[in-house]
Amino acid sequence: MFDLKGRVAVVTGASRGIGRAIAVALAGRGAYVAVNYAKQREAAEATLEAMRAAGGDGELMPFDVTDSKAVTDAIEGLFARKKAVHIAVANAGVAIDNLLLRMSDDELTTTLTTNVHGALYLARAAVRPMMRGRWGRFIAVSSVIGQMGNPGQTAYATSKAALVGAARSIAKEYASRNVTANVLAPGFIDTDMTASVPEAMRAKILEATPLGRFGRPEDVAAAAVYLASEEAGYVTGQVLAINGGLYV
Ligand code: NAP
Repeated sequence: MFDLKGRVAVVTGASRGIGRAIAVALAGRGAYVAVNYAKQREAAEATLEAMRAAGGDGELMPFDVTDSKAVTDAIEGLFARKKAVHIAVANAGVAIDNLLLRMSDDELTTTLTTNVHGALYLARAAVRPMMRGRWGRFIAVSSVIGQMGNPGQTAYATSKAALVGAARSIAKEYASRNVTANVLAPGFIDTDMTASVPEAMRAKILEATPLGRFGRPEDVAAAAVYLASEEAGYVTGQVLAINGGLYV
């Protein structure tokens, strides 16, 4: 089950955290994985090493997801080299927290361009080769915050809720070409992004999480493997929550 041998995948923001775990999990199932990152090359190299240790392979693919041309060029290059792009995971994201009344234009723009434009640039570039191959899996990494809302996270919540509408539309547009589009909605996952959350807030979130622990990147990666698989071929336009029951 969940054999990804022969599949070509790209994961944005795969140098660290959830993206790294997804890249390693896809590679461990046999996919060739392009490891995108923005700045942290050494971390991306460590992802590639972990993928190889898991028995897989891939390549580094640096680009800024907010740079439309760079995204398109990178995916076209991958297609030219590997003759296919089957799986695209829009994971790269930023969380810039601020109250609505204090939110600067820059904070709003960076959040939306990275989290929303970045995901759509990837989808637009990757769906073309998926259509040609009559097989594709687009997966967007949203968040429980996009479902629940949260004070101080209006911009982030907006960006993450937007991905749901995007994936549902992509699902309908390309279903006839056997391309699915789904969303992962993680809860609180221990990564660099959540490292600076104050202890009191962590305790509150833990208390509200029925499974009684924070998530691990690998919890999200397992769901990504499923959605990327042949076995998930009848699942499209869906939101799969990996949140320990924090939001049900
Ligand atoms: P993280 O540890 O902060 O890692 C962020 C990743 O995104 C890094 O690989 C980073 O690359 C990359 N990135 C950031 N901006 C980029 C850009 N402009 N172009 C290309 N890559 C860029 O984050 P994480 O916690 O793993 O989160 C991954 C995704 O899951 C995000 O979309 C986040 O919103 C979502 N999520 C996280 C949680 C959580 O609790 N952690 C919960 C729900 C949803 P560099 O290393 O090169 O900087």
